[in-house]
Amino acid sequence: MGYRGVPGHEFVGVVQQSSDTGVIGRRVVGEINAACGRCDFCRSGLGRHCSERTVLGILGRDGAFADYLTLPDRNLIPLPDSIPDDVAVLVEPVAAACEIFEQVRLGRDEKILVLGDGRLGAIVASVLRANSYAPVVGGHHPEKLAILAQLGLKVDAEDGLQPGFDCVIDCTGRPAGFTRAIELVRPRGRIILKSTAAANLAINLAPVVVNEITVTGSRCGRFGPAIELLEAGKIDLQQLISRRYPLDDAIAAFDDARDPLNFKILLQAS
Ligand SMILES: [Zn+2]
Repeated sequence: MGYRGVPGHEFVGVVQQSSDTGVIGRRVVGEINAACGRCDFCRSGLGRHCSERTVLGILGRDGAFADYLTLPDRNLIPLPDSIPDDVAVLVEPVAAACEIFEQVRLGRDEKILVLGDGRLGAIVASVLRANSYAPVVGGHHPEKLAILAQLGLKVDAEDGLQPGFDCVIDCTGRPAGFTRAIELVRPRGRIILKSTAAANLAINLAPVVVNEITVTGSRCGRFGPAIELLEAGKIDLQQLISRRYPLDDAIAAFDDARDPLNFKILLQAS
């Protein structure tokens, strides 16, 4: 997005100021897309695609790696006490995973592959599992796959995967993920792209045509379904939190986050 500013879009915080006095002091998460509220997209509930939007820590709006951030009142969603802070931080990516269900209709008996054994793959696969699907997570790192297996997920070494999946969800965060997904999906199958990593990829799209593959891009989702899922205790993501750092140690936190075995590093503001 060519963004310059304070990064950070996954957060939980306490409201300090608002024209809505009822929300002051409440613990909240916030929808990251701040939309105009007037255009056709906004009026149909798709403010996430508003052309006038700013996006927390991503587009025209300073983000959450700070002591304070601002969002419109309507973006804020108070949290039930049953969701601890560590889990609340993950509402945004869980919502992004839930977005898949709003976009495509998957059969419970479909062979679904989640490509990528990082944090996004773990969350997407956990959300699918919580909704009675049986995805396989394909990854390169045995240690990470072992951790994901502890979450109750089916895992497999990516190198040994055979083509023929009905649906491949690319959560690799690497440009090569899209190419690999094209190899592994069956003819007339479906690929869901959950990351923007393939932005500058020179790619052979001939197999997409020859095999009549449907490609769906998928980004942010509504927070409501994600909070319901977490409140119901249907997914346990606390194990993904590797460590916490004070905001003042953010540089060390970023260094630590480069370790592939650290699924999620948290920054604690004041
Ligand atoms: Zn709008």
